[in-house]
Amino acid sequence: MISFERVTKTYGDGRTAVDGLSFSVQKGEFFVLIGPSGCGKTTVLKMINRLIENSGGQIRIGGRPIGEYKLSELRWNIGYVLQQIALFPHMTIAENIAIVPELKRAPREETAKTVDRLLHMVGLDPNVYRDKRPSELSGGQQQRVGVVRALAADPDILLMDEPFSALDPVTREKLQNDLLELQRSIHKTIVFVTHDMREALKLGDRICVMNEGKIVQLGRPADILNHPANDFVREFLGGELQAAQPRVPALTAGDLAEPITPDNRLASEGAVTIGAETETGELLWHFAAQERLLVRRGDAVVGVLERDKTLKRIAREFEEGGVAK
Ligand code: ADP
Ligand code: MG
Repeated sequence: MISFERVTKTYGDGRTAVDGLSFSVQKGEFFVLIGPSGCGKTTVLKMINRLIENSGGQIRIGGRPIGEYKLSELRWNIGYVLQQIALFPHMTIAENIAIVPELKRAPREETAKTVDRLLHMVGLDPNVYRDKRPSELSGGQQQRVGVVRALAADPDILLMDEPFSALDPVTREKLQNDLLELQRSIHKTIVFVTHDMREALKLGDRICVMNEGKIVQLGRPADILNHPANDFVREFLGGELQAAQPRVPALTAGDLAEPITPDNRLASEGAVTIGAETETGELLWHFAAQERLLVRRGDAVVGVLERDKTLKRIAREFEEGGVAK
């Protein structure tokens, strides 16, 4: 979908910000660019929609060099979300979102429907928010509107430059979850810039680690975590390396089961039976399909697992740090 072939960017002062970068982003992929401040992430992003012209190499979208597209085509078909999104203060939320569709002369009614649908998708009730002014919204809500605005013209590509980094950790986490959820239904090609490894690991299908205008490592989150290319990546992973060690509670079905009573025995009629030694990870798979499980030790049924109760119990264990295995 997007390809970089030995792309460089040298700014007027002669400094090379991006140095012979080659990579491609697949259609529908969530691609994360990560690296320390000044390593060239924003420059890469802005070269994709030609807010910045590359000095060398070739950038293609859908196989076609970006120089062959009209600028308006690129700007309208590529959504762009910034860290501090600038909503127009005198316009309503709906008007802010409708800017690009209106430029594209989309029918008004259709745009109004799109605006409502998208607001709803990011958890903002359109009846409450469409006519409000930006100043009436919290930072997190404004950032949601920024995402919606970038999606309003239904672009194929979404560029996001540290979109959540100005938000408090709780709001940030919420927006990350929303974005993942949203991406499951819209399947855009997303290039997402961050300097937060935890965010990268959580969101990315693949992560491209950059330093000083070059790629240090490109791979899936698990590749990066399990096989950091060098000390730079290892250092950048920092605490995440330790935090990411699987810390599933070392509990078995037998530990979690409730004793059989006449009531729950009746309710569990016909339920799937699993061994008492079944571990937490496998239990979760069973619960994806089953509400209740019977626990067997040897030939005897020794207990019952109810999904809600058991998941809560497991969640509590996680919160308490679990037991490293
Ligand atoms: P990042 O987004 O990773 O922090 P940038 O792409 O913004 O990095 O910047 C990469 C390098 O290019 C930095 O050294 C920065 O100072 C330099 N740079 C960025 N924009 C310009 C510009 N307009 N003129 C000159 N140098 C720039
Ligand atoms: Mg930047």
